[in-house]
Amino acid sequence: MYILGYDVGGTKISAVIGDSNGKIIDTLRKRTLKEYGKEALTNQLIVMGGELIKRNSIDKIDRVGIIFAGPVNSKKGIIVSSPNIIGLRNYNIVDGLKEYFKVPVYLENDASAATMAEKVFGNAKKFENFVYITLSTGIGGGIFMNNKLYKGSHGMAGEIGHMVIMPNGPLCGCGRRGCFEAISGGRGIAGRVVENISAIRNSTVFSKMRPVDIDARAIFNAKRNGDMFAQLIVEETIYYLAVGIVNVINILDPGAIVIGGGISKEGDDLFTPLKLAVKEEMKSMKRNVKILKAIDNNGDLGAIAITMGEKYYQ
Ligand SMILES: [Zn+2]
Repeated sequence: MYILGYDVGGTKISAVIGDSNGKIIDTLRKRTLKEYGKEALTNQLIVMGGELIKRNSIDKIDRVGIIFAGPVNSKKGIIVSSPNIIGLRNYNIVDGLKEYFKVPVYLENDASAATMAEKVFGNAKKFENFVYITLSTGIGGGIFMNNKLYKGSHGMAGEIGHMVIMPNGPLCGCGRRGCFEAISGGRGIAGRVVENISAIRNSTVFSKMRPVDIDARAIFNAKRNGDMFAQLIVEETIYYLAVGIVNVINILDPGAIVIGGGISKEGDDLFTPLKLAVKEEMKSMKRNVKILKAIDNNGDLGAIAITMGEKYYQ
């Protein structure tokens, strides 16, 4: 069975052809033509898919999966709102592709699709209850409960990034203060460095950098190079991550927390101290919850996984 998958983001669109075992056969990435509106997007998806089908000499695809970076109504195939590409509000992105490819087409938001990829192909296969957390510029998530993807009453479950962990803390994009993502997301981590001007002056690494270039990756690198300020920020970040994660654990009692997103690529430098910090932060509520790293390509695999995960939908 061949599946055509799309990951539609604000800056780029990734198209993949894969099979039902989660093997990615070919990938094509293009810049999102976001100034041209709805039909242009549908056309772009059709052209990219056609190119992949042609160059891999595939006779027939069986399913299409679309991931969109923003809230969607999966049942209706509608983009509910579009934070990064204007003009897509309430657009049915599924119908045009269904008509063209004559196969079932599935739509899901990026966090839920990544969660599904972890369940279908990834490290969460054996867990009936787990929470997926994406740690990148912001923080998102997805919840698997009783072996189903839990979407909530408005399709908005899993917005872990907007759980306040520091009342009166830094302002978050959502309007609240001290949200998990405003502190522990990439932008939040960088913010805690950039606002401390005297510490930047004393840092051999950061004093030579432009503030705009200071991101989570640069901070972890500086820590690896022995920068004391970076070490402090990383330790603080690990602590706040543990606070947020233990809040989630206490509410949902999952078997595992799976962590993906750009910051998860820090690997052991993140996971080793984080596992210890989570254990410590559980205090008297200690239990065995696995902290797992997400599979590397759960974006591409997410588009495949959503076409195969019907039994995991409520
Ligand atoms: Zn928020």
